[in-house]
Amino acid sequence: MARVMVPVVTDQEIARRLTSPEVSNLSVARDLGVSWGRVEEVRRQLELPTYRRGRRVPESTWQEAVQRRVKETSDGHAEWTGNRHPNGTPLLSWRGRTQTAYRVVFRLHHAREPEGNITHVPDCQVEHCVAGGHLEDRRMRDRRRAAGDAR
Ligand SMILES: [Zn+2]
Repeated sequence: MARVMVPVVTDQEIARRLTSPEVSNLSVARDLGVSWGRVEEVRRQLELPTYRRGRRVPESTWQEAVQRRVKETSDGHAEWTGNRHPNGTPLLSWRGRTQTAYRVVFRLHHAREPEGNITHVPDCQVEHCVAGGHLEDRRMRDRRRAAGDAR
């Protein structure tokens, strides 16, 4: 008689999937082929909050806030899906502070504060593009022009 091998799912595997209150017991149970009750048991052992449908977990960093709102396009640019100023400028409001998305994306991409205005590099002609590598500040413009690029 052939023995059916049932893969053993450990509590650790279940725990690894229960990363936030946005993950439901049912989805984990389905993925791993275990019962809902087993997942709930692990959740209680870990003292994780109960799943609530549609609950938004607050973003903990600027980076996370940006990542949720930037959509890279297939042609190498990036679209802002968040709020905008009436003139179209992408804006990010996070923890009571509002900045242009350009400044936040620039800071994350270049790991420094931008100097002066942020504009798009000459090779990016997409209005309101928020690709980190397509933004330049005064320091970068000065350096580019000093190198003979008059654009
Ligand atoms: Zn671009």
